[in-house]
Amino acid sequence: MSKLIYADNAATTQMDVAAFEAMKPFLINEYGNASQPYAFARKPKKALQDAREMIASCIGAAPEEIFFTSGGTESDNWAIKGSTLLNAHKHATVTSAFEHHAVLHSCRALEQRGYPVAYMRPSREGYITVEILKEYITSQTYLTSVMLANNEIGTVQPIKELCAVAHENGSFFHTDAVQAVGHIPIDVHGLGVDMLSASAHKFNGPKGVGFLYIRSGLKIMSYSDGGAQEFGLRAGTENVAGIVGMAVALKNNCDALEENTRYVARLESRLVSLLESSGIKYVRNGGTNRLPGLLSLSFPGADGEAILHRLDLTGICISTGSACNSKNTEASHVLRAIKLDDNCAKGAIRISLGKNNTEEDVEAIFAALTKIFRV
Ligand code: PLP
Repeated sequence: MSKLIYADNAATTQMDVAAFEAMKPFLINEYGNASQPYAFARKPKKALQDAREMIASCIGAAPEEIFFTSGGTESDNWAIKGSTLLNAHKHATVTSAFEHHAVLHSCRALEQRGYPVAYMRPSREGYITVEILKEYITSQTYLTSVMLANNEIGTVQPIKELCAVAHENGSFFHTDAVQAVGHIPIDVHGLGVDMLSASAHKFNGPKGVGFLYIRSGLKIMSYSDGGAQEFGLRAGTENVAGIVGMAVALKNNCDALEENTRYVARLESRLVSLLESSGIKYVRNGGTNRLPGLLSLSFPGADGEAILHRLDLTGICISTGSACNSKNTEASHVLRAIKLDDNCAKGAIRISLGKNNTEEDVEAIFAALTKIFRV
């Protein structure tokens, strides 16, 4: 069995060991329910408070603006439906055609209830520009939702500028920052966003936990009804261990942000320079302002699915730019949104490098690609 080379960090990441260690006491010894009044509940309650403060300080928010959720999907659903369905007067939403399905399908659910949604088409480089937003936004737009970084092509959107346009038009602004949090600097006040979604397993935290930043003063429907957890807006006994692990993982990533970025960027440029000198024909998708380590590559005439399976045989994990349905494989909605031609879309793969990858990993990926393309 060959050594595992994990290069699919945009799908999920390996857990930070310190985060895992921090979780353990809350699974075994400190298992009290944080809502109980007795002394045994004090540690979990305090751990939740500390985690909220740690997370808030990583994104420039106040602790009471952080709401724990079960992950990115829930945060997106809550932000979009919870804000829009509350408003009876202005109820249109503007989003982009290359959002994650957690956003797109939440918007479809709004449409089914009679709330209009406009889907902006990004530029070919993979950006929603101010000019594009201005074409779509109207005085009826209640919510604008644009992702901070695209999960397939890694392009980082001009959120601050888009947010300013939304606000000038009287619209609230949500950003799905699931791919960005813990990987690039984020300051919610600098960006001006009203809501921001994040997910722990994308930044070396545990799976099944995330958070939604909700700007103080913004009105939103409760996500679930029941107990008084999460300031009465998201009922349900807290996943204390998961939340603690998320906070430690985020703090560790944020503390080492510059170092990690430099390291991952170096791995990325090594892979690019190997590819450049190899004679393998490929195209890099998306413009240059993008997440460190994320490479969306198209090999014209090749089949991304076949590349994935060939790499899998040598223990390398990557993903494709395709979406499988029961009958066939077609280009993903992201690649279709940026109007990638069929030849390039079919031959697209995504390699996402992270802080745990090494130069040897990059060389092994390159060696496996050269074998596939026989150069
Ligand atoms: N949004 C984006 C941009 C993502 O990449 C993902 C996960 O792939 C999600 C939302 C969903 O997050 P989760 O897996 O935590 O539900």
